[in-house]
Amino acid sequence: MRGLVFHGPRDVRIEAVDDPAPRGPGEAVVRVTACAVCGSDLHVYRGSERGLDPGTVLGHEFVGVVEEVTAGAGLAPGLRVVAPFTTSCGDCFFCRRGLTARCERGELFGWVEEGRGLHGAQAERVRVPLAASTLVPIPDDVPDALALLAGDVLATGTFAAELGGVEEGSTVVVLGCGPVGLMAVAACQRRGADRVFAVDRVPERLTLAERFGAEPLDFDRLDPLEAVLEATAGRGADAVLEVVGSPEATRLAVDLVRPGGTLAAVGVHTEERFAFSPGEAYDKNLTYRAGRCPARRYLEPLLASLAADPAGLAAVWTHRMPLAEAAEAYAMFDSRRDGCIKVLLEP
Ligand code: ZN
Ligand code: ZN
Repeated sequence: MRGLVFHGPRDVRIEAVDDPAPRGPGEAVVRVTACAVCGSDLHVYRGSERGLDPGTVLGHEFVGVVEEVTAGAGLAPGLRVVAPFTTSCGDCFFCRRGLTARCERGELFGWVEEGRGLHGAQAERVRVPLAASTLVPIPDDVPDALALLAGDVLATGTFAAELGGVEEGSTVVVLGCGPVGLMAVAACQRRGADRVFAVDRVPERLTLAERFGAEPLDFDRLDPLEAVLEATAGRGADAVLEVVGSPEATRLAVDLVRPGGTLAAVGVHTEERFAFSPGEAYDKNLTYRAGRCPARRYLEPLLASLAADPAGLAAVWTHRMPLAEAAEAYAMFDSRRDGCIKVLLEP
């Protein structure tokens, strides 16, 4: 089959790779019908996240059709399914508490390090261990493009709003309006937030954030801190959802949040120190919550809400391309060329 293979920073290629085959009981092979390039794929692409073996098939966002199963897979061939970006057993200490992203047996799709791990789904087929507890059937009335959002960016945006404690009447700032930030804006609306400010500098992203109900703040043209303080009688926001994953974003988030408020960080951080001090956290009665989204936990309720796409979430798909052009899709997404917000790839 063909898949997108990682060779090194900014060197990814569509190549012939071995067809995936089940390696034991409880596994499935899924024929991928749609997959996507994610902002976190760019960390690898840009070389800012290291450790991935050259030769790894990339990609962790996919939907498809179950093609092959082994005993105990709990799914029938022919079923349309979506996966969260990690596998999970459904039964360990963490899975039982809903923290499926930290499953004791879980693996991240598209991450092979020192020969161990799971190849990804920017390919014609993908192997899925722990299939019964990982894969979720897609309702007939939910198209691939929407189910594909549920597996990562929509789940992560929803998780961010939940971590932030966003509720009826909340004033929220979403820092970073890539696909996850945009989904977070939509999640804040669903939870009844009063005002949602969306901070970014990319015009296409800000336009979409506004369409999803946010008040756009272009930080190249104004000071978001000034705008948010002015809107909150100088207090700051009840919650700041930080979707960027940089010390600068953390710093701004701490400034933007009101005393007693919550900073929810779902951006992938690789730095070693906090951009704020324990003293500042104390003085602000700050709640800081962070981490990888347990996407599996959100899949059924999100899929059930997607049939009519009331929020128009499908608008984040600015580009659809054949899988054969995946390397070009990475380059375009990386440079945000051509108004690119998110790319759907069709094998
Ligand atoms: Zn992703
Ligand atoms: Zn588990």
